[in-house]
Amino acid sequence: MLKVACDTHTHTLYSRHAYSTIAENVAAARAAGLDLLASTDHFSAMLWPPQPSNQVIKDYQFFLNYHAWPAEWDGVRVLHGCEADIVDLDGGLYGHDVPVSHSMNGNPLPPGTTLADRVFQSCDYVIASVHGKRFCEGASIEEATGMYLGALANPKVLVLGHTGRSGVSFDIEAVVGAARDAHKLIELNEHSLSDVADSRATCWLIAETCKRLGCQVSISSDAHVCVDVGRFDCVLAMLDEIGFPEELVASRSRESFLAAIEGAGL
Ligand SMILES: [Zn+2]
Ligand SMILES: [Zn+2]
Repeated sequence: MLKVACDTHTHTLYSRHAYSTIAENVAAARAAGLDLLASTDHFSAMLWPPQPSNQVIKDYQFFLNYHAWPAEWDGVRVLHGCEADIVDLDGGLYGHDVPVSHSMNGNPLPPGTTLADRVFQSCDYVIASVHGKRFCEGASIEEATGMYLGALANPKVLVLGHTGRSGVSFDIEAVVGAARDAHKLIELNEHSLSDVADSRATCWLIAETCKRLGCQVSISSDAHVCVDVGRFDCVLAMLDEIGFPEELVASRSRESFLAAIEGAGL
């Protein structure tokens, strides 16, 4: 069975419905034999109530001080990013329309600065996912496909998150082909296969399409508690059955994942 050395999507206490610290997640990654952990907390309206533009940055300063973390932590390469909600049918990401007028310490920011600009600046990469679906209820396949294509076009987006369990019907072939052409990644998410039974068939179809079209994937636990870090049993069993080519798994090694980030122009 395929060996995977990176967990590319995990959450800490900052996400509010997750339960472990970054130190606990790093220790869990090390214990699981991983050598790269990406911490990607939610960047989403589900976290905090809306604030006026001179205050809003205070709720998101967790992302802005990421450089405090060692890049190499107990033998684990630690990357920092976020999982940003897709919020409109153009593929706009959370915070793209939220103005911020002041920095954390109250200094004025250039006019036109958005919350997404500030947060993405300090991220190694962004995962774009659909959570709240109200904006895309009733969307046609074409509109939902356009939404994912728009998110992929964002220069900080490396990965489309759990497209198999978002409950949005889209043209899988078109989105996977566009991800391949942009050298970006489709996520295969353990949580989607282990806990969300009705998304299984879609996840398989997406993985098979990635194989057929030659699109790279990233494998993730989407852990919301440290004991889940590095758990990919269901994804690996699926890839085994599909006969998924190892060279398309960007997260198979630290080197291949860092190369994928570079390859996507990030
Ligand atoms: Zn979550
Ligand atoms: Zn998610």
